[in-house]
Amino acid sequence: MTNQMKALEKSRPEVGLWMVDAPVPQIGPDDVLIAVNKTGICGTDIHIWQWDDWAQRTIPVPLITGHEFAGEIVELGKSVSDLHLGQRVSGEGHLVGKTSRQSRSGKFHLDPETRGIGVNEPGAFAQYLRLPAFNVVPLPDAIDDEIGAILDPLGNAVHTALSFDLIGEDVLITGAGPIGIMAAAVVRHVGARHVVITDVNPDRLALAAQVADVTPVNVATEDLRDVMARLNMKQGFDVGLEMSGNQRALNQMVESLVMGGRIALLGIPPGQSPVDWSRIVFKAITIKGVYGREIFETWYKMIAMLENGLDVRRVITHRFKVAEFQAGFAAMLSGRSGKVVLDWRQGQSRWTPPGP
Ligand code: NAD
Ligand code: ZN
Repeated sequence: MTNQMKALEKSRPEVGLWMVDAPVPQIGPDDVLIAVNKTGICGTDIHIWQWDDWAQRTIPVPLITGHEFAGEIVELGKSVSDLHLGQRVSGEGHLVGKTSRQSRSGKFHLDPETRGIGVNEPGAFAQYLRLPAFNVVPLPDAIDDEIGAILDPLGNAVHTALSFDLIGEDVLITGAGPIGIMAAAVVRHVGARHVVITDVNPDRLALAAQVADVTPVNVATEDLRDVMARLNMKQGFDVGLEMSGNQRALNQMVESLVMGGRIALLGIPPGQSPVDWSRIVFKAITIKGVYGREIFETWYKMIAMLENGLDVRRVITHRFKVAEFQAGFAAMLSGRSGKVVLDWRQGQSRWTPPGP
């Protein structure tokens, strides 16, 4: 028995992550300790791996990274009464304060004091994760660990998709990354009419068509207007979900929307980008920025949809043991993967917390 664990750490201010031995976190009265079973690699983790400008500005070194996880509770803080040992859980990685106006009105996802695990605080790429009990989301039996490990990005997709009424609407999703693809599955699940997803990467578009009943469009080689005509669309898309972070995609979305259309923006452009605001004004378009997940309404909705037939499993294209984490990051960096899931359980001995 040891109080050491394996963890993937940004140990040095340079490209890469390193597998280190770190102390098992000590929990406070309102926390739980979670033995991590599976984790998802996020685009954010790729920024941290590559040590780009954003990462250099944001990530303290050293830091255990990672924020997409599923596991089970192995220790309960003294004040935690509504969870139990052995419970299978995932959780919200945004740690929120309780004092801001937004938090006190129940809008935790809008708390300006939010800190992210694996970004500002020690993360989930570890055998054990400390998390406030408040952030824990129990997993029903119907949701296994690999789906549990991608609820964070599925939550981004659900939060964005459910921004507007979609029933019977024609929806354009720009960017067939893992989140765009999962959003397409959600949009279809909740009853949109035409769901068109664009990208410039044929592998991603092929994956989108495997995961969801959508019309994939490669905007590098196809004219979106031709596709709209083929679908017999008269005016344009009613709702746009921007999930690429690419300026050209947003421009194309504005061009392809109906008068009075609605856009939810999840994609993060790399820097400032020019926008033709007059076009947006004259088309009377509503734009909503989306950050994270609604705490905890998005979690409730996505678990309910997963229990009710929403199927996003095929977005997971690669599964690795954590010892092979470098292959997992290489798959993500190739641009050809969907979600990549790391398994933390294999070949690892479990630490048993000391008794009371
Ligand atoms: P990703 O980078 O894997 O996918 C983006 C996709 O957009 C890529 O497949 C790329 O080929 C495609 N693309 C590039 N140019 C395009 C164009 N002109 N038209 C259409 N598609 C184009 O990203 P992801 O992990 O799926 O995340 C989606 C976006 O959401 C990213 O910008 C990410 O930074 C952002 N994000 C935001 C939040 C938030 O809270 N707001 C959370 C997570 C991710
Ligand atoms: Zn993520």
